[in-house]
Amino acid sequence: MSKEPKKVAWMEDYDGGKYPACPSCGEPAYYPDQCCFCGQPFEQDDELLKEFNHSVQIERDGYTVVQASNNHVHIYASDGTLLSHATCIKRMTEKDLERYLENHRRLMKELFKEV
Ligand SMILES: [Zn+2]
Repeated sequence: MSKEPKKVAWMEDYDGGKYPACPSCGEPAYYPDQCCFCGQPFEQDDELLKEFNHSVQIERDGYTVVQASNNHVHIYASDGTLLSHATCIKRMTEKDLERYLENHRRLMKELFKEV
């Protein structure tokens, strides 16, 4: 049996940002049209579509960091190798992505200095 479409719920995250969540199960909305956890269809919502079409990208020291419209954050090396992949509910700004890259590089240095 198919469910009635519902308006997506906007939840507040820890630092005052808002993210879309499923009105039925409360899980984050990773797709604009349906909940990938419980299958609840979402009503079309302009704010939600805008959110899903958003993507941010920075380039620093040969690294490319991008948050795509599905919230995934990727770090690429200059030859295109994917170095890091994470899902982040928060909508990152360019500054956030810079910080994310710095943390990643620091972590890699820590991990490999003993090798
Ligand atoms: Zn759901």
